[in-house]
Amino acid sequence: MKLILLGAPGAGKGTLAKQLQEEFGFLHFSTGEIIRENIKNKTNLGLLAKPLIDSGKLVPDEIIVEVVKDRILNEKQSYILDGFPRTLPQAQALSKFIDIDVVLYLHADNQTLVERLSKRRVCKNKACGAIYNTKTYDKIICKKCGSELYQRDDDKEEVILERFKVYQNQTQPLIDYYNSQEKLIKLEAGGHANDTFAQFKQKVLKGSENWH
Ligand code: AMP
Repeated sequence: MKLILLGAPGAGKGTLAKQLQEEFGFLHFSTGEIIRENIKNKTNLGLLAKPLIDSGKLVPDEIIVEVVKDRILNEKQSYILDGFPRTLPQAQALSKFIDIDVVLYLHADNQTLVERLSKRRVCKNKACGAIYNTKTYDKIICKKCGSELYQRDDDKEEVILERFKVYQNQTQPLIDYYNSQEKLIKLEAGGHANDTFAQFKQKVLKGSENWH
């Protein structure tokens, strides 16, 4: 099964992807993670992306499409695309090389999104990548793997507002795009992560064992 996770920053795409990865063994491709790793390693992509990501802007379509295509084109295992596509041209490019099965649209109200982003802390250990909210966990060490937690630079307040604008203008049109292809399933993602996960099981798996 090939899934896309669509939703505003803070909707819980990364958290749901981790749950799907842990429970069902989906591969998880997060374009944001791939870019952050490239920034850390100072690759050409990282150097190009850093000022964009730091100001809440998107990396150019042609570049991100190539990065994704490279990783998924020959992938046989079930996977999740988290944070891709983010624009109509990206979705159109994707459709030329992959047939997506389901697009999960995670919906939450703006107040919840802002609160989550500003309180989000992420595990520095890439293999773990656990995500916390300081409201429910205010320590600086990851309880899963013991690594340090950090706040993403783009989760600072001034950048959050720009990311919302970019989401509204460039990513929201994808909701209609995938809805018209009858691929969209909406999950209410404003509550606890386990509620969103339960909706996934109910609406997508529908009790079926044969979901691969
Ligand atoms: P995320 O971790 O998904 O919130 O992504 C963080 C940042 O990475 C975004 O604000 C963009 O700057 C960049 N990014 C991630 N995915 C994409 C994409 N599909 N297209 C362009 N830029 C992206």
